[in-house]
Amino acid sequence: MIALGAGALGGLALHLATPTLGPELTALLLTPIDLIADIFLRLLRMLVAPLVLFSIMSGMVGIGDPRRLSRLGLRTFAYYMGTSLVAIVTGMLLVNLIRPGIGADLALPEATAPASSVGALDILRRLVPENIFDALVRLDMLQIIFFALLAGFAITTLPDRHREVLSRGAESLFELMTRLAHVVLGVLPVAVFALLFRIVAHGGVSRLGGLGWYFMTVLTALLIHGLLTLPLIARLLAGVSPRRWAAAVGQALITAFSTSSSSATLPVTLETVEKKGGVSNEVSSFVLPLGATINMDGTALYECIATIFIAQYYASSSGYELTVSRQLMVVFTALLASIGAAGIPSAGLVMMTVILQALDLPLEGALLVAAVDRPLDMVRTAINVWSDTIGAAVIGRYEGSPPLPDEA
Ligand code: ASP
Repeated sequence: MIALGAGALGGLALHLATPTLGPELTALLLTPIDLIADIFLRLLRMLVAPLVLFSIMSGMVGIGDPRRLSRLGLRTFAYYMGTSLVAIVTGMLLVNLIRPGIGADLALPEATAPASSVGALDILRRLVPENIFDALVRLDMLQIIFFALLAGFAITTLPDRHREVLSRGAESLFELMTRLAHVVLGVLPVAVFALLFRIVAHGGVSRLGGLGWYFMTVLTALLIHGLLTLPLIARLLAGVSPRRWAAAVGQALITAFSTSSSSATLPVTLETVEKKGGVSNEVSSFVLPLGATINMDGTALYECIATIFIAQYYASSSGYELTVSRQLMVVFTALLASIGAAGIPSAGLVMMTVILQALDLPLEGALLVAAVDRPLDMVRTAINVWSDTIGAAVIGRYEGSPPLPDEA
């Protein structure tokens, strides 16, 4: 927030001083700012391929374990995928209705990709890499995801000796990438400062107005999912009053909102769902840690809106074609990106680059929406955790441990 304000103020000062300083001196002053913004983009790009590869592989290794793929596992997985998909559809509907990116004045660099339309069959064909190393070098996200899913599943079918080594290897490499992402995100305030400075210095404050509609679209979609869809699921599938359930797990929601991290919130989530929500330890200790890692409704919805917003901007400014098959690709990759996102602040922002890459759009878009990411991150993390707790309530009910037993 401070970086946001300081960047905007600094940029405005330079913008107003440009007539006096002249274009050459202004460009000189902007050089370090450009450098910082570019280095941050390169760091993001550096993380993308290995992060996706290892997060999906380690996820598959965890879920694919035959013992965990019991009834409990399948139910949990179905709930998580189902709610994330509903969240994405909500986001997709709103972003197509409000169309915040059409005609927005964002000053992003031109899309270099050919503006050709991609057919649905083409996507299928191109899903399969001919050479996985080549896919990694080209950052072909769909091919990397395909390979990771396949390899992750294959690991679970290996003899114990190999399976254990590879599972632990995949998990450790995922930990390493998460740590690196954490380090890179540590400089996010500086990158936000540089970016805001650059945008405002070039075009004055009116440029930021373009983000206003985007912000409102994400917020509205998050509120619809959190206040309408999920409460409905709580009532229908878990059989609890959403109001009472929210009161029971309120502490977890507040913690999620203030830390922007599902993982950091996990201890509070476990405590409140068990102690105040009355769901058995057996259910909550399986459902909630898994949820904190793979179930991110708010993140999925946000990924969808943010990338379509940027694609809309390019569609209206440079002839980029936002075809139905590309939108379907967003649905699919947003789901995977939300599964792959670590439960740490701004993880969704890093994973967004995966979708932009898959859409052949420049990564600068991610840096632009980073300017208003923090408040949205707070809300989407609260929604992520809210969905996890309702998941625990639903699964608890079907596994003989109904939520809020005292009040039933
Ligand atoms: N901060 C979110 C979480 O921990 C992830 C995200 O950036 O969307 O749930």
